Amino acid sequence: MAFDHAVVVGAGIGGLLSAAALAPRFDRVTILERDELPADATHRRGVPQGEQMHVLLAIGQDAIEELLPGIGAAWADAGAAWFDSTRDVASFSSQGWTARGPSEAWTYGLRRLVLERTVRDRIRGIPNVTIEQETVTGLRASRDGMRVTAVELRGDSAIEADLIVDASGRTSHAREWIAALGFEPPVAHEIVSDIVYSTALVRLRDDALRADIRGVLAPPTPISPRGAVLLPCGDGLHQIVAVAQNASRAPAGRDEFLAELDEAPTPVIADAARRAEFVDDPKPFKIRGTRRTRWEDMASRPDGFVAVGDAVLALNPIYGQGMSVAAVEALTMRDLVASADAADPAGLARRIQEAFRSTLDFVFDSGLRSDARFSATTLHGVEAPPPPKSRVLGALATEDWKVAVALRYVSHYFSAAPVQRPEIRARIRAWSSSGRRPRNPDPAVVPKPFDGQPLPR
Ligand SMILES: Cc1cc2nc3c(=O)[nH]c(=O)nc-3n(C[C@H](O)[C@H](O)[C@H](O)COP(=O)(O)OP(=O)(O)OC[C@H]3O[C@@H](n4cnc5c(N)ncnc54)[C@H](O)[C@@H]3O)c2cc1C
Repeated sequence: MAFDHAVVVGAGIGGLLSAAALAPRFDRVTILERDELPADATHRRGVPQGEQMHVLLAIGQDAIEELLPGIGAAWADAGAAWFDSTRDVASFSSQGWTARGPSEAWTYGLRRLVLERTVRDRIRGIPNVTIEQETVTGLRASRDGMRVTAVELRGDSAIEADLIVDASGRTSHAREWIAALGFEPPVAHEIVSDIVYSTALVRLRDDALRADIRGVLAPPTPISPRGAVLLPCGDGLHQIVAVAQNASRAPAGRDEFLAELDEAPTPVIADAARRAEFVDDPKPFKIRGTRRTRWEDMASRPDGFVAVGDAVLALNPIYGQGMSVAAVEALTMRDLVASADAADPAGLARRIQEAFRSTLDFVFDSGLRSDARFSATTLHGVEAPPPPKSRVLGALATEDWKVAVALRYVSHYFSAAPVQRPEIRARIRAWSSSGRRPRNPDPAVVPKPFDGQPLPR
């Protein structure tokens, strides 16, 4: 037996993937989106970050492929780049260049606008999913107040549903909507890092990067809070980002953008940018930081309502996790809905929200550990974790490609298990007692990658 009707608020990545997750078990899924959705990959108001560089982590890519089989092929058809995220991308940390070696974490590089358009096209092809242009303004509850039964729309109409998923993003009003039904709204925790971004689309000169380098990461660090990233985004183009934490203004215009890239800890990206053809002007963007709304901790909550994506956890974008978190949540929701009894849906929404907890804890806590190291970061509702006891892992990763790849797997798969394996632990112990120092200190010279069999994940 199927559930009758699900409503999803918002047709961003979180909303689209939620619809893919619910469609197999619901007779109808309606996505309500306030923007008029373009047919092609053009920018729109509701997703202001759409023109900024977006990285898809391996866990997110795998989850989207499972929800929408064949999506990787659609991205390839749309011109996406395909690269080994640890061998082909050089990464500069506060301890120097990280060693590069082959991995199983291959990812697509494509612009966010193209990614969202291809996902949207697939969702439009699901027969029981419709997308309607509506703005949701509130929720309605059952007579006893314990079940959300409908969304209210601008203009005073309402649409009933068995399950309502809020995927309305970073500016979600769902806390107020729930409060208006008489519930204590969930607590929100914030890490305020004042991040400024500026992304430009460029065509690099053929000789801009050595043949073994497809991209370069030099994220901000507490010592060097201005960073830069360069990655392929398909059709032979690259995106370059100038990014800074604890900053007040994003660089606007090419001259400011290039000057900002000069402040990054490696000159490699600025050099490539100076000789590149700019396809468009840098797009500035400013964001406060990470905000986690603890929906899973509500003591009393109505049934029939789930929040996903940025509406739950809007992250510091420098870690490139938001879309992947939304994809993992959608997959989790799909599995719980698949095994639920449509005749007895009580508690389903709570189980779904609770099941997101471990992913959210991992991602939030790792971001907190990094962001709290920046002196101007302020924390609201959370404590600063103790500083790391040792920096051995990062130092060893400058010379041992297996440790470097294991470390990247931690970020790509939201799990600490890759660095806890006996082989990796033995390498860490041996290095710690050797008294060696980080390698590759010259920021202008990217070391060559190591060869070998990809480290299994
Ligand atoms: C500068 C920047 C860079 C980023 N880089 C990365 C990255 O590299 N990798 C990564 O994975 N993530 C990145 N992110 C995060 C990523 O953009 C988000 O995590 C992701 O878009 C979340 O998707 P969502 O569907 O939850 O929200 P959104 O994509 O914001 O979509 C929300 C949708 O809801 C609609 N909506 C809002 N209110 C209503 C309403 N009341 N009624 C109807 N519709 C409504 C909006 O119009 C919009 O379409 C970045 C974010 C920023 C700001």
